[in-house]
Amino acid sequence: MNRYWSPAVEGLDPYVPGEQPRAATTVKLNTNENPYAPSPKAIEAMTAAAADDLRLYPDPESFELKAAIAEALDVTPANVFVGNGSDEVLAHAFRALLDHGLPIRFPDVSYSFYPVYCGLFGIAYETVPLDDDFGIRVDDYIDEKAQDNGGIIFPNPNAPTGRALAVGEIERLLVSNVDSVVVVDEAYVDFGADSAVSLTATYDNLLVVQTLSKSRALAGLRVGFAVGSAGLVEALGRVKNSFNSYPLSRFAQAGAAAAMRDVEYFESVRGRIIASREALTTDLEQLGFTVLPSKANFVFARHPDRVGADLAAALRERGILVRHFDKPRIADFLRISIGTDAQCAVLIKALREITAA
Ligand code: PMP
Repeated sequence: MNRYWSPAVEGLDPYVPGEQPRAATTVKLNTNENPYAPSPKAIEAMTAAAADDLRLYPDPESFELKAAIAEALDVTPANVFVGNGSDEVLAHAFRALLDHGLPIRFPDVSYSFYPVYCGLFGIAYETVPLDDDFGIRVDDYIDEKAQDNGGIIFPNPNAPTGRALAVGEIERLLVSNVDSVVVVDEAYVDFGADSAVSLTATYDNLLVVQTLSKSRALAGLRVGFAVGSAGLVEALGRVKNSFNSYPLSRFAQAGAAAAMRDVEYFESVRGRIIASREALTTDLEQLGFTVLPSKANFVFARHPDRVGADLAAALRERGILVRHFDKPRIADFLRISIGTDAQCAVLIKALREITAA
C-alpha cells in the first residue's frame, strides 16, 4: 500500500511468469519455450530490419505481418489482429469483447492470466470445473445455468493440462452460445490439436488467438495474433489504438512475417517436438508417472507417491527447472516443457534417481 497508488492498483493480483534464470547452464523446461532456434529466415529478416530507418515509427497496422499470417492460415488480412505477444491480444480481447457486465466463464484449471485480466478490467467470472480426467466438458458451458454469460474463454489445447478439445465440440458450443463472444486461446495448437480458425468464417462471435512464442520459437520477439470476424477485429483495433499505436517494433514485424512464411522450417521443428513429447511421455510412464494425453509442447504429469512441490525442488537442485502450481486439483502435477532429446534425457535421469531414493 502506497498513498500514491490508485485504488485499482491496490486491488490487483498480478500474474507471476515462470522464472527466467540468468545462468545459461540450467535445463529450462518451465515456460514452454521452444528448445530450437527460430527460422533462419526470421533472423535474416530481422538483421535486414536493422538497416531500416529506425528514426521512423513502424507500420502501426503491421500490414506485411498480417498478410503473412493471413496467407499461412488461409484467411484474409482484414480478419487478423496482431499484438505484442498473445498476452497483449488476450488483454485487448478482455477489454473489447468480454466486458459486458456479466460474469465470463473459463475452466477451473486453465491459463492463470485470465483471472488477472478480470481483476485488471473489473470483469466478474465463474470457473467451470474440468471433468475427472481434466477435460473440458462442452455441455457444462451450454446448460441452462451457463446462459447469460459475458463471454467464454479457454485454451485449446488447455494449459496446463495439455488436453485438446475436438473442433466439432467447439462448434457445438458456438451453435448454442450466440449471444456472447467465445475466445479460443490456441497458444499450443500447432503441436497436434485442430485449430478452430476455419470456424471464424461462419461464427462472427468466435475469436481465435495464437502466438509465435511456441511453435515458431519466437518468445523473445513478443508477437501474437487473433483471427475473427471483421467486427471483432475492429473492436480489438479500437482498444489497441486507445492504448499503444505501435505495439510491434520494426524487428518484430519483419521477423514474425518471415517466420510465418517459412512453412517448411515450422513443420520440421514442430514435428521434432511432437516426437520428443511422445518419447518423454513413455519414459515418464516407465518411471511410474501418470501423464495426461498432451497435444501441446509440454506434458502434465504426476507421480503416485511423490509430492509435486518436492519433485520440482529436487529437480531444481540439479539445475532442472519445471513448473509447479500450488493450486487446488493440480498441486501434485509437474508441467514439463518439451526440450531437446538431450534435455529430456537429463530430466529422465534425474527423475529416475529422485524417485528411486
Ligand atoms: N495463452 C496461453 C495458454 C499461454 O500458456 C501463454 C504463455 N504463457 C500465452 C497465451 C501467452 O503467450 P505469449 O504472450 O508469449 O504469446
